[in-house]
This record gives sequence, structure tokens and C-alpha cells, in this order.
Amino acid sequence: MAIIELRDLEYQYEESDEKVLKGLNKKIHQGEWLSIIGANGSGKSTLSRLFNGLSQPTGGSVLVLGKKTTEEDSLQMIRREVGMVFQNPEHQFVAPTVRDDIAFGMENAGVPREVMLERIDEVSRWVNIEHILHMEPHRLSGGQKQRAAIAGILALRPQVMVFDESTSMLDPNGRKEILETMNRLCRESGLTIISITHYLEEAFMSDRIWFMKAGRIEKDVTTANIPDQLEWMEAEGMPLPYKYQLYREAKKRRIDIRTLRTMVEGE
Ligand code: ADP
Repeated sequence: MAIIELRDLEYQYEESDEKVLKGLNKKIHQGEWLSIIGANGSGKSTLSRLFNGLSQPTGGSVLVLGKKTTEEDSLQMIRREVGMVFQNPEHQFVAPTVRDDIAFGMENAGVPREVMLERIDEVSRWVNIEHILHMEPHRLSGGQKQRAAIAGILALRPQVMVFDESTSMLDPNGRKEILETMNRLCRESGLTIISITHYLEEAFMSDRIWFMKAGRIEKDVTTANIPDQLEWMEAEGMPLPYKYQLYREAKKRRIDIRTLRTMVEGE
């Protein structure tokens, strides 16, 4: 069974006379890392809020583990199973220390105290924040804040995590930390990851990419097939990561990529 399924999904904002999502039919499978990429205004953020019922479709449906997000009885389960990480975690912190903050979410979810302590240990190891558990969330660096927020969500044991532009406010180091965390979570814990990003090189780290354009999923490709997609990506004006620029250039000039690299970078 697909972990998330979109069926003829549509979305239209009340004040607007145009649909921002148009007839999406897709399945997301357990354990995959899916990236969603597309120009500003293509509908990525709108879509992300539909994955766990934060917004509801105006047409068609979203199913999580076979249950529609519109079913009142399933919404609680869906919110638990699909965790959301946003661009700015600042407003998500409620407690004076990182440890208390992670505990707070679990208290609300009724997790027993001894389980809570184990989980705090576990998730802080996963996202590498053991050394900052005693700190005030507001004093942390951007990358640390984002990892603390991720820990709080992971402690609730979701099956899916949606990252909505969650690296875009970070410096390159912070971004790297979050990407490594995402990679580890997906590869080692079997978590399903949906990451919305405008960085192509981030999308290339995942298993599969949806390219959104004007409310539709224009392309759905596995990253193993990226070399076949470079031509149209270039035509769409997407800035290819350096290694793929080299690949494209070598192909155009019909020379070996290593020869080209030597020419460009010197010995
Ligand atoms: P993306 O995340 O790809 O930048 P969005 O999902 O934010 O795209 O936006 C898709 C379209 O919906 C855009 O045209 C945007 O202007 C419009 N939109 C987003 N939020 C609202 C809103 N609250 N009310 C009306 N239109 C909106």
C-alpha cells in the first residue's frame, strides 16, 4: 500500500478564481525520499499542507495509510504519522530547554515518562543534539534549531516527515547538517521523507523528484535516471549542479568527463 496517495487532487484558495493544484494522481511509497521542486508559485507549499490535513482538498482526496484526510476520525492518526518541518522552527519551541521541548510534545501525546526518557536519548543521537539538550532553543544556531525541531517531531514516531523549505534559511553548514540528517533518517530508520526545496543539488540526493509547474506535476523521475533528464532541465533554465554541468558539457563536446575536468580545473 502507498503511504500517501493523491487522487484527482485539486486545490483552490477561496479568494482566488484559479486552481493552484490541478488533478494530481500520485503514490508515495514507504521508505522513499521524494523531493518536490518547482518555481515560486508552482504550488509546492500548498501541496505540503495537504499531506497531513493542515489544509483540505477542494477537489479529489489525499489518503494517508489508506485513510482520507477529510475523515474526522482519521485526522488525529494522520497528524501523528505525518510530521511537518517548516522553514523557520522558531515559533515551534514552547519550553525553556531543548530537552523540555522534546518532552512537551510527547507529554501531550500521552507517552509514558520512562518511554519519554528513552526516546529523548534516541532522537537526540539520531539528529546529533545530545550536547545541546540543556540549552535554550532561542540561543541555538539555525542548523541546531532545525535539528532540535526535527527531534521533537521524531520523538512522536511519525512514519513520514515533510520538510517544507526547511534548509532555505540556513547557511551552507546548517544546510549540510540537515541534509545529512534527512539522509540518515531515510536510509537507516526507514522513514519516508518528502522534501520541498528549490535547490536542485538537494533534490538530486533523494530517490525521486517531482517537478512542479503551474499546479501540476510536470515530471516524476527517479534520480537514477537524472542523466536522461539534464537536457530538458537545462531547457527549463534550471541551474544544474557543477558535476552535471561538466557531464553535459563533456557530452556536447564528445569528450571524456575526466579530460574535460582536467581542462577546466587544471591538473
Ligand atoms: P510555491 O510553494 O511553489 O511557491 P505556493 O503553494 O505557495 O507555491 O503558491 C501557489 C499559488 O497559490 C501561487 O500563485 C500563490 O500566489 C497562491 N497562493 C498561495 N497562498 C495563497 C493564499 N493564502 N491565498 C491565495 N492565493 C495563495
